[in-house]
Amino acid sequence: MRRAIFALILVGCVFLASPASGQAIRVVTTFPILEDFVEQVGGEQVQVSSLIPRGADPHTWEPTPKDARLVAQGDLIVANGGGFDDWLFALVQNVARPDTPLVIASQGLEVIVPEYDHGHSHHHAGDPHFWLSVPNAISYVEQITEALVGLAPEKAVYFESRARVYSEELVELHAWMTQELSGIPRENRVIVTYHNAFSYLAEEYGFEVAEFLVANPDAEPSPRDLARLVDLLQGMRNRSVFAEPQLASGTRYLQALVDEVHGDLFILYSDSLNEEISTYVEMMKCNTRTLLEALK
Ligand SMILES: [Zn+2]
Repeated sequence: MRRAIFALILVGCVFLASPASGQAIRVVTTFPILEDFVEQVGGEQVQVSSLIPRGADPHTWEPTPKDARLVAQGDLIVANGGGFDDWLFALVQNVARPDTPLVIASQGLEVIVPEYDHGHSHHHAGDPHFWLSVPNAISYVEQITEALVGLAPEKAVYFESRARVYSEELVELHAWMTQELSGIPRENRVIVTYHNAFSYLAEEYGFEVAEFLVANPDAEPSPRDLARLVDLLQGMRNRSVFAEPQLASGTRYLQALVDEVHGDLFILYSDSLNEEISTYVEMMKCNTRTLLEALK
């Protein structure tokens, strides 16, 4: 019996040690879009877990005991940064192994601070949804690749070649989006959304984000905010409004608005993936088609 316990302890130690060359690197990300980026670069050499599951709203996420366990076991932790997933930092400090690298994927990117602000913004540092511009996503992929190579230099060729192939796909995606979206007439280049997520997409592809109902989805829009948006939409010829699949209450508010102004409600993906739209590339293609259908 004692020998059996000793053997178990030994096996446990092997699993706790830093990733051996034959073993997948355990990567923990805060939300599913980062999980997709890590999988694209890491392939079968990584085992990725997203703390926030697909379809959930990252803005209202509260870490669970399961999240703490995953962070404690992670070889690499990947966060977005920019105020988007600050809850992770306490978790990392409390439970991660002291030498576990933490990647802030948006590091070094230029922050857009939207002019429009209700004064109750949780995003004091600006819009944290950097990834909705494809060139920014390419920068995320570079950060992730560098971290994986740093952790397992013997797999550098594998990670770098996968990163190259994926980045080329993103460059193509960006060119396609730029070409397709350039067909939308100037007077229709307005995106009206529920929460403030689309600054980077708007800047990159030539749109204006007119108004959004809440700065952060953990807040509810006031009757005044709703009235102001009704006024705005009534002055527009194209009354398309964009909801997001992970924000059910936002969709209800927007549906009421659209009914009042006889507009149309469309769905744009921002913060999450789901079973139908399971990768970043699919998400951006879907958003492009939606913008064309809504605004052309
Ligand atoms: Zn968001």
